[in-house]
Amino acid sequence: MTAEEENFKNRRTFAIISHPDAGKTTITEQMLLLGGVVREAGTVKGRKGNFAKSDWMEIEQKRGISVTSSVLQFDFQGKRINILDTPGHEDFSEDTYRTLMAVDSVIMVVDSAKGIEPQTKKLFEIVKERHIPIFTFFNKLDRDGRPPLDLVDELETILGIEAYPMNWPIGSGKILSGLFDLYHHRVEVYHPKTDAERFLPLNAAGTDLEQANSIQQSPAWAETQDEVEMLTTAGNEFSETAVLQGKLTPVFFGSALTNFGVETFLETYMQYAPAPAAKPTVDGDEIAPTDPTFSGFVFKIQANMNPKHRDRIAFVRVVSGTFERGMDVSLARNGKKIRLSNVTEFMADAREKVETAVPGDIIGLYDTGNFQIGDTIYAGKRKVTFAELPTFTPEIFMRVQAKNVLKQKSFHKGIEQLVQEGTIQMYQAWDSGDYILGAVGALQFEVFQFRMENEYNTEVNLEPMGSKIARWIKPDQLNRQMASSRNLLVKDRHGAPVFLFENQFAERWFKDKYPEVELEAKL
Ligand code: GDP
Repeated sequence: MTAEEENFKNRRTFAIISHPDAGKTTITEQMLLLGGVVREAGTVKGRKGNFAKSDWMEIEQKRGISVTSSVLQFDFQGKRINILDTPGHEDFSEDTYRTLMAVDSVIMVVDSAKGIEPQTKKLFEIVKERHIPIFTFFNKLDRDGRPPLDLVDELETILGIEAYPMNWPIGSGKILSGLFDLYHHRVEVYHPKTDAERFLPLNAAGTDLEQANSIQQSPAWAETQDEVEMLTTAGNEFSETAVLQGKLTPVFFGSALTNFGVETFLETYMQYAPAPAAKPTVDGDEIAPTDPTFSGFVFKIQANMNPKHRDRIAFVRVVSGTFERGMDVSLARNGKKIRLSNVTEFMADAREKVETAVPGDIIGLYDTGNFQIGDTIYAGKRKVTFAELPTFTPEIFMRVQAKNVLKQKSFHKGIEQLVQEGTIQMYQAWDSGDYILGAVGALQFEVFQFRMENEYNTEVNLEPMGSKIARWIKPDQLNRQMASSRNLLVKDRHGAPVFLFENQFAERWFKDKYPEVELEAKL
């Protein structure tokens, strides 16, 4: 293997998940600062462009939230970091879920005053199911938060994962005076008077400072010492294997806003965050990053990144080999040959033309309608098809029609493309053929409606059907008589039969009546 082919080993590709307002953007900014990409904190949100909180879509601006995921790339301590940003709004999670399929590890940012919030829990379940290594950062230590033991306990009970504190706060809010850094065997001082005072070494036993310091006068010092002793004697054992299997989460504390503990976190994270991993194929095999032939998969398609150009970009995670601009690849789904000449990579402040990319990197392909979510592309003769990306069972449904019947053609085209992009899921009533849209979060409908109007010049009527429980059934078990007003029969976009149950009672009633019929949630 050439040195160049080994480049992937220094890639670290991850996503940051959090509940809105926990501080994901702020910590991302601090990381960019540490990476030397931006010079001042506070530039990410304000600037126009493809940034963490991007203004790719007008709707984002209107609602002040980040609807789509972006990618940031920068170098830190000899490693190339790819951060995949994920939408933080609780209404919009299908895109977030899919982005998690393209990362090798995840950082979870939690507001230490609020603890684990619902959105974090939902995202965490996907992370856990996929055994993605996860690192936890309890943020906003400069505010009065909940006791750290409570937070760690909650993390373990609510999320069902073992926690291992790498450092421990010395107070919070007004009395925050530092971090007891168990991993680095030192105390990190909050607002040190001099640079030399920033890190104070611990004694050999790791129980106290080596040399006396005013931080020992902090009202929180004695309590921190007690807690640290408890953690070291009764806490979980650290195991790198358990971290890599997603069974143990290293826990860090800090304050993103005052840039306290972020550097320590990032440095330690870089030591344990895994390099790009092999990815499973449909035939049960896997493709390793050391495999010399290029392959990758599309995990996201996004239109209208630049409102002036109406471009559509397919985001590809490189799995093996080296991507080179202008190379020829095949699309596994239909065998089509495509030359990849119009490509973009995502740097922090400019969309740059990429020449090469290695496993772990994300490339953006300008797309004229060739790609679908989950598509595999590969170079060479050997056909590669990666295992399907999971689809998420939608929970909310709406009937949809074009307002103007003369607009049928653009209506159909719009729906087809937006469904392919994964903006929303589409179903058709089995008998009437009416279009029904399904989503995980209500905001997806808004995005759909907005884009139909703006990009396909078609106003749509959406008629709420409320939340339903979608269950797939095997076609040979289907009997049309089974359908009723409480379990509507529809087909998905591949023509497979699905029942939309009104509620759990309806589903239970159905199961009692037809015990032989298997109902699948298809997550
Ligand atoms: P996001 O929604 O998770 O991206 O959260 P933001 O990074 O936008 O932060 C939400 C709010 O919390 C903003 O007003 C931030 O300034 C503030 N914030 C973020 N980190 C901290 C912190 O460490 N301490 C305090 N006091 N505020 C913070």
